[in-house]
Amino acid sequence: MGETAAKGTERRRLRVRGTVQGVGFRPFVYRHAVALSLTGFVRNDAEGVLIEAEGPQQAVAELCRVVLECPPPLARVDEVHTTTVAGGRGDDGFRIVESARHGVAAVPVSVDVATCAACLAEVDDPSDRRHRYPFINCTDCGPRYTIVRGVPYDRPGTTMAGFAMCGPCRAEYHDPADRRFHAQPNACPACGPRLRLADAAGAVVAEGDAALDRVVQVLVSGSIVAVKGVGGYHLAADGTDGGAVARLRRRKGRDDKPFALMVADVAQARRLCHLDVAALDALTSPRRPIVLAVRRTGALVAEGVAPGLPELGLMLPYSPLHHLLVAGCGRPLVMTSGNLTDDPIAHLDEDAVARLGPLVDVVLQHDRPIHIRCDDSVLRSAGGRVQMLRRSRGYAPEPMHLPVAALRPLLAVGAELKNTVTVAKGSTMVPSHHIGDLGHLAAYTSFLQATEHLCRLCGVEPEVVVHDLHPEYLSTKFALDLGLETLAVQHHHAHVASCLAEHGRTGPVLGIAFDGHGMGNDGTLWGGEFLLADLGGFERVGHLAPVALPGGAAAVREPWRMAVTWACAAVGRDAAGALGRHLDPRAPQVLALVERDGVLRTTSAGRLFDAVAAIVGIRSRVSYEGQAAIELEALAATVPPEDAVRYPVDVAMTDGVLVLDPAPMIGAVLADMGRGHPPAAVAAGFHRGLAAAVSSAAVDLAGRHGVDTVALSGGVFQNVVLTRAVEGALTRVGLEVLVHRHVPPNDGGISVGQAAIAAAASRR
Ligand code: ZN
Ligand code: ZN
Ligand code: FE
Repeated sequence: MGETAAKGTERRRLRVRGTVQGVGFRPFVYRHAVALSLTGFVRNDAEGVLIEAEGPQQAVAELCRVVLECPPPLARVDEVHTTTVAGGRGDDGFRIVESARHGVAAVPVSVDVATCAACLAEVDDPSDRRHRYPFINCTDCGPRYTIVRGVPYDRPGTTMAGFAMCGPCRAEYHDPADRRFHAQPNACPACGPRLRLADAAGAVVAEGDAALDRVVQVLVSGSIVAVKGVGGYHLAADGTDGGAVARLRRRKGRDDKPFALMVADVAQARRLCHLDVAALDALTSPRRPIVLAVRRTGALVAEGVAPGLPELGLMLPYSPLHHLLVAGCGRPLVMTSGNLTDDPIAHLDEDAVARLGPLVDVVLQHDRPIHIRCDDSVLRSAGGRVQMLRRSRGYAPEPMHLPVAALRPLLAVGAELKNTVTVAKGSTMVPSHHIGDLGHLAAYTSFLQATEHLCRLCGVEPEVVVHDLHPEYLSTKFALDLGLETLAVQHHHAHVASCLAEHGRTGPVLGIAFDGHGMGNDGTLWGGEFLLADLGGFERVGHLAPVALPGGAAAVREPWRMAVTWACAAVGRDAAGALGRHLDPRAPQVLALVERDGVLRTTSAGRLFDAVAAIVGIRSRVSYEGQAAIELEALAATVPPEDAVRYPVDVAMTDGVLVLDPAPMIGAVLADMGRGHPPAAVAAGFHRGLAAAVSSAAVDLAGRHGVDTVALSGGVFQNVVLTRAVEGALTRVGLEVLVHRHVPPNDGGISVGQAAIAAAASRR
């Protein structure tokens, strides 16, 4: 210690910031440092990774270059700050130093990572001992989050505990110079998990390579197969075989909701969809999400894959098994979650056979257990960027920064639909994977497991539990039953806060939260809100005009009900009656309900889209949430925005609150449909009219309240036509617009917003 460094040698400290923990960064640094004959150490700390490296100047410089220019695949290096340390230490070699946990939610395990190029090369190499091995992995790739049972993250703490490594595997695992140094799921054909093919009753009919060959055979001949993947089971079918896809729909009980496709490579993806740079980046990233992109005319895919929709959901193989399967079949495969309609995805073998057996011809299984189920993530690509719709496998449990640190550990339990939970401690929050719609008992059970697991994994013992204002959400009831301190957060405030949080902001902003609905402060259902908000609170400064929600939940499933409601507001009872009878024989009862005192009222923007979709004849009933709005947007997108008419919206200031009344717009929609205008033109006119009204209201309110930033959130802002029009209009007048990128605008982001609000509250 303290000696002057030998001539020509130096010791440098590298402070590395970015996404550098849980991504194999320390072994990576170690390998390079050892290869360069450097001494010193690498360790994780509260700010990222700290390296001290000592040796010849050239070698130290080379380490700096490698860290900056070719970090491990999952790492994102934002900054490397280097300082020279006076005097050499003369350490005995280079070490990975274990780090104590600091006051942040430390996630000991990374996200699940798609098979890396080096592993794929071995799979393809007939002379490699892992040739065609479906469970190959290394430090840079493989399952992580889905196989970890508890902390610390080492092999006994994972579902690989039952597999004793063979000699060669153990040697790799312990060799710091090897690509598989401390790769917890390391395995080979001699010692690791094995494939097996079961019939629909669960009896094994083939194993290993034979199982794979059989599955390829039956898939290309039109069978439906349950395939055990990384975060759960998929139902697979030949995506070019209309009969197979129709059978899959019928058996799964899924009418129209689009299926995702797994394609072999980028070339195959490009033959199906238009993909820009952002879409390709997302598609090929090691996180391997499903990317929604506009399909090419004449794309060779069965019509039943995404009926009536202009987009297809594509993903690339992300496990070695997927690679072998897709390469073997040589065509796009439907890979949809292995469940019946709204149940959670199956992930346990016996349960999978019980639940999926009746839907499939065979089940492709393996004996590496999945500890926590994790659905595929979904991004939408449009206009040169991508937007997160479902943040799950490949993204969870990656931590995110809180705009203000939480002084007490928190658990935010989200809303009801598309539920996620988020834990937070210090300056870090960790959103969970997608859990699902809590109305279903099985999803609620999954919610309990996920919550417990995430808290344990991140070392968070919550002192405060944050929940939605809605008293009937199961997440709210769960929070209130815990017996801990609770904080209720208004739904749309949470939406706006989720957008603030992902941009590292605290506000104030003008938040525009448009969604299906959420409980308002006044006990009515909100969903078309203008909130002057920061993380500390909000004021409702504007909203859509409230109308009846006839039949509550039934109005969500049956858009014709909202058509009747809005028609009544626009053109009166008689004309609405005439329209209603044409849509559904129960229209007279609904009309009576609409005019009754005490009927549930809503300002929902989502229901306004439903109403217009029903009026233009898209559909009177939906088979999944948001279907009518998605199809209305698709129709509007066929008309260039500048060619669309702009239907009028009434705007009035009532008691200091701006109220936007779309009734005149509905009147114009009805009139143009009556004149025989094409539905696409009417759909585009509706989008343009709404965007114009929302933008001018936002400009007015921002000026009135002295803010220069507008945040767009809520599920309705998944609508690209609307988002682009509003964003464009606001940007042109010099307002800054925050839109979602990494957090879903829908209710999947609610727990993130709740956590940010509660963190701010913890400081008061
Ligand atoms: Zn690998
Ligand atoms: Zn082995
Ligand atoms: Fe919402």
